[in-house]
Amino acid sequence: MILSIASGKGGTGKTTVAVNLAISLEDVQLLDCDVEEPNANIFVKADLKRIETIYREVPDFDLEKCNLCGACADFCAYNAIAVTSKKLIFFPELCHSCGGCGLVCRENAIRWRRKEIGEIYRGCKDGIEIYQGKLKVGESIPIPVIRRMKELIDRSKNVIIDSPPGAGCPFIESVKGSDFCLLVTEPTPFGLYDLKIAVEVVRKLKVPFGVVVNKDGGGYKEVDLFCRSEGIPILLRIPHSEEIARLYSLGVPFSSQKRRWKEEFERLFESIEDLR
Ligand code: SF4
Ligand code: SF4
Repeated sequence: MILSIASGKGGTGKTTVAVNLAISLEDVQLLDCDVEEPNANIFVKADLKRIETIYREVPDFDLEKCNLCGACADFCAYNAIAVTSKKLIFFPELCHSCGGCGLVCRENAIRWRRKEIGEIYRGCKDGIEIYQGKLKVGESIPIPVIRRMKELIDRSKNVIIDSPPGAGCPFIESVKGSDFCLLVTEPTPFGLYDLKIAVEVVRKLKVPFGVVVNKDGGGYKEVDLFCRSEGIPILLRIPHSEEIARLYSLGVPFSSQKRRWKEEFERLFESIEDLR
């Protein structure tokens, strides 16, 4: 089963859930697709080795051929090209590698070059095969890294994807094609606001999903009310606990220290299998 762990809001405990699930199961592949800030291996502690460098294609302008007509700049929806009467300026960080500028250039002034955007690392520890995607600092397009990470999925294993936060393209890229998505939220107005957005997106992707409420117990009931009214199952509640926070701060998954929680995560996985 491919199970993605996501949350509309950052800092809700998505990685906590992904890692605790991973260590509670057998024969697991854990993909840290939060490539702008991968942190699952802080808890897994595998010896990671770089296995791949990820590139994408960006235009390379032949200024001898370019007549500064501006067609490429007009076409580019991402404002990655600016053309004045005197020069053409290209902003590679804004380019989404759509290829369109090359199609509209009548002077054949655009070639393509590879731009390094990130790396993939792999390691193994205690039955977990972990892959970590890492976007280069200053690079703003994580999709090719996430896409390549997902090509490494071994369907014979229990696959857990730690998705990027938010509900934009990186979230969609990592969640689409999953057999199930766990949305991790916290019982606060911010948590609820972002959960509602994430729910909309996951429904559009037609991926079955359920909710984990992290830092539960503060008395804010609206997340429960929302889930009930929408028919969304709450599959696990993790209490707001000083002990769990202390272990987190030490980089220790709490289910590795507490047998009860390992069983809770095993049960969580079984309940997901029943829901599929
Ligand atoms: S479309 Fe081609 S010729 Fe026109 S400005 Fe762009 S690169 Fe130059
Ligand atoms: S490849 Fe697409 S996104 Fe990149 S500069 Fe050309 S038109 Fe813009």
